[in-house]
Amino acid sequence: MSESGFLHDVGKIVGANGLIVDKQQMRPYLTDWRGLETGTALAVVRPTTTEQVSEVLKIASANGVAVVPQGGNTGLAYATVNQSASPSILLSMSRMNAVRAVDRVGMTMHVEAGCVLLAAKQAALAVGRQLPISLASEGSAQIGGVIAANAGGVNVVRHGMARDHVLGLEVVLADGTVVGGLRALRKDNAGYNWSQWFIGAEGTLGVVTAAILRLSPLPRHTVVAMMSVPSSQAALDLLALVQDELGDTIVAFELLADASLALVETHFGLKRPIAAAPWHVLIEAQSSVNGLREAFEVALAKAFESGLAQDGVLAESETQALNLWALREHITEAEQREGPSAKHDVSVPISSVPAFLERAQAAVAREIPGARFNPFGHLGDGNIHFNVLLPQGQLAKTANEIVHALVIDMGGSVSAEHGIGRYRRDALRQMRSPAELGLMGGLKKLLDPLGQMNPGAVLSSPQSDAGRRG
Ligand SMILES: Cc1cc2nc3c(=O)[nH]c(=O)nc-3n(C[C@H](O)[C@H](O)[C@H](O)COP(=O)(O)OP(=O)(O)OC[C@H]3O[C@@H](n4cnc5c(N)ncnc54)[C@H](O)[C@@H]3O)c2cc1C
Repeated sequence: MSESGFLHDVGKIVGANGLIVDKQQMRPYLTDWRGLETGTALAVVRPTTTEQVSEVLKIASANGVAVVPQGGNTGLAYATVNQSASPSILLSMSRMNAVRAVDRVGMTMHVEAGCVLLAAKQAALAVGRQLPISLASEGSAQIGGVIAANAGGVNVVRHGMARDHVLGLEVVLADGTVVGGLRALRKDNAGYNWSQWFIGAEGTLGVVTAAILRLSPLPRHTVVAMMSVPSSQAALDLLALVQDELGDTIVAFELLADASLALVETHFGLKRPIAAAPWHVLIEAQSSVNGLREAFEVALAKAFESGLAQDGVLAESETQALNLWALREHITEAEQREGPSAKHDVSVPISSVPAFLERAQAAVAREIPGARFNPFGHLGDGNIHFNVLLPQGQLAKTANEIVHALVIDMGGSVSAEHGIGRYRRDALRQMRSPAELGLMGGLKKLLDPLGQMNPGAVLSSPQSDAGRRG
């Protein structure tokens, strides 16, 4: 079938409003969040139902057209930037955005893939429950994208990754088969848990069209504090201290370099409320049981007595708490405004974070004179965004290679939460054994034998790893 014939048939499925072929209108979908890379597609296709997704995938498959699913396009791994010359469509899920049901007692939510994360969270709040996935991009990121990327965010230390919130999924396979698994069961050991295969698969195995998500009780009390600490080791020791004192009421434990806060001050005019120090931590605790604030104060007093903290502020109101969080949440955008950077989303065993920070900084500074550092992230999960602000004309590649080699050497991961996409494919091959790559390639071949789902993302070539067995 000709290209125009194919697009005509797609248009019949999704209607005129569901098909964008105008180059200008397609551009925002095809350009990554940072505006650095632009992909190509025959069209942007915007279905409104699972049946439409299925029909579109059927004719795409029959015509050898690849499909790149997209949610809010906030991913940071170029996973939806397809630059291949082979024909493809970008499947935007944004019109499938309904919250179909929220069950207060069962603490579940049935939601379509294109629902923006913030809207899903608000729907949970409306019935006195919470969906504790918190990302700075939550005003744009969609549930399907969050699931496909297995997003993390600031509450992983208590609530886990996106994967831990998914009870049931509905997906459409490359050949158009709808696989329905929208079950709201807490316990279900019936056979393989196939829905987990699609979580973190970055759209390479199929399209997520809807999900049943696990909700949590809404805590009555929240305490937020920011502390200055003399070293990253002190930050780690402070983590152990608050774990001892406050147990699993800790829902966030973030590490921020002083340089990160300086960037936020420069580009957004937000002011640090505490003394400058090499590092800061932002801690949030939640509970429905009274006495949280008092317990938190005791923990902080111990932190000062032991010299782990030098200065600190405990938010007195929700506004103050939001202001503390605003400092953390503006770091990524402040960095973007500052100029080119090499981004790293790495994890190492939690207790190795201070050693990693020291070694990474020394190694990059040696190879890239003039590099500046913006390390921040989720210390409670051992996940640091070790970002390097690059001197004029310096490419990110050198910093990437240095940092990734070190992370692998320290038994860590080069993709703690942002995925592999097209950005970290080579590193994936260094990190995973031939047997693991073989398993991934075999699964890809099974579910997408023609290699049409988001080709080039995650695995270098769709079938190149199939059949490997270490
Ligand atoms: C300011 C900022 C802060 C961020 N903070 C965090 C953070 O703290 N933690 C974190 O983990 N991430 C973070 N991210 C990254 C990003 O927001 C998350 O990865 C998010 O989950 C992506 O969702 P999205 O809807 O934008 O997906 P997209 O960017 O559109 O897509 C991401 C991947 O999912 C696939 N996909 C999208 N929808 C579907 C679907 N319905 N079915 C199958 N595949 C699909 C795409 O093909 C792609 O591979 C941040 C990004 C920004 C810009």
